[in-house]
Parts: sequence; structure tokens; C-alpha cells
Amino acid sequence: MADSQPKKLILIDAGHGGPNDEGAVFTDQSGQVWRECDLTIQIARRVLNLLQADGRFMVMTTNEALDFPRDAACAARDRREMLGEYAMNAAAAGQPVSFLISIHVNSTEKRSSKPSGIVVCYNADAASAQQMKDSIIQNGAAAGEDLAGNRASNVVRRPELSMLNLPFPSLLVECGFIQNPHDFALLTSERGQALLAQSIAEGLSKLMWGTPLQQGRLLAADWPLDWSKFVPIPAPEPQIRPPLQKH
Ligand SMILES: [Zn+2]
Repeated sequence: MADSQPKKLILIDAGHGGPNDEGAVFTDQSGQVWRECDLTIQIARRVLNLLQADGRFMVMTTNEALDFPRDAACAARDRREMLGEYAMNAAAAGQPVSFLISIHVNSTEKRSSKPSGIVVCYNADAASAQQMKDSIIQNGAAAGEDLAGNRASNVVRRPELSMLNLPFPSLLVECGFIQNPHDFALLTSERGQALLAQSIAEGLSKLMWGTPLQQGRLLAADWPLDWSKFVPIPAPEPQIRPPLQKH
């Protein structure tokens, strides 16, 4: 019985944030500016809500876990050390960190080609990355939406990424390419974000418990995106930030 087993503690890392780390920045045809750090927190929140509703997980964002404001500047190395310390304390308190999922949005410099599709990045655990990739793509396909895109491979080893060098298992999901019109619609709409989040949460459920999420799935009837009704979520106003202190 899943109910009698201890919950899995999942950390969700919404990529970027802080005064000097907006991630990818993209201006759409109407002149609206989109920042990766805003999209990642929106998708991360949805994953968090889905896992919390499931009941078999303890789940929080990395910023909540570390009690660290997302807008504060912090070097990637420091964040990695803080997460390592958090994991040690959590394990000592009887609730070890089971997994960290880092959520990002992909971007390309190339003007001519418009790459699309999700990419699951891993360091040590290729099998988990493969499983997460399959799960995301299958969940999308079940809803009538192609999340694989035009990539030759949807899994990439990225040993240099700090969030893939932690003392517990982790994966990083690039949720699509902001310059690609199809991916843009997914990344910036309620329905697209809901599908991406559901697909990631399903992947985590299968990785952690070997079974799908316990609550209902998105229905195929809700998909694919109806382009005539496509309404992007408005990008938040860029915050006015104090200039960086130079030491
Ligand atoms: Zn990123």
C-alpha cells in the first residue's frame, strides 16, 4: 500500500531568477518580452500543485526548501552547496531528499532553423532521463500533442550543470524552445503549461513509485492546442532592480 510508505521528498527547482539571472529572454512578434525565469516558476508551481494533490509526495521549490528568496543573487555553486546541506539535515531528520527536478526553457541562437521539443538533461542517471523523456512524450501524445519536436534526441548528458551535481538524484527538463512557434504556444499558455507540468509530474510519479499519478489525467478532448483560441499568459512587468554592486 502506497499510503503506508513514507512520502517521497521532491525538490522543484524553477530555473533562473535573481537580479543577474533572467535566463533566456525572447521578444515576440507583438514586442512582448518573455523571460525564462518567469516561465520556469509558472511551470514549476503547476508541477508542485499536481504532486501535492497526489498525496504520496512531500514537495517544495528549492527556494522554499532553503528559505531563500528567489530574487536574491546566488552563485550556482553556492546553491549547490546549500542544497547539499539541506539534504544532509533532511536525511538526519528522517526525510531524505528523493529527487530534484530542475525546470528550464530552451533557447537557440540560430535564426534559420527553429528547433523544437523537450530535452531531458542528466549527469549520472541515463536510465532515469530516458524514462522521464518517454513519460513526457507519451503523456503529450495521449493528449494529442507532440512534445518530442524535431530533435534527433530528447535526452542529453550535461555533466557540467550544477543542478545535476547534487548528493541525490536529479534531472533537468528543458520544456521547449521559446523561439519555436509551437513550443512558444505551449510555454506561454495556461493549457500548454498545464500539459508540460502534468507530463513532468507523471514522469516523477513513475520514477518514484512506478505508477502514474493518482488523480485524473488531462483528457485528449482538451487537446491539441486550438490556435484560434491561443491566448498567451501576459508576461509580468519586468522588475526594477538596483544596479549590481561591484566589489
Ligand atoms: Zn535555463
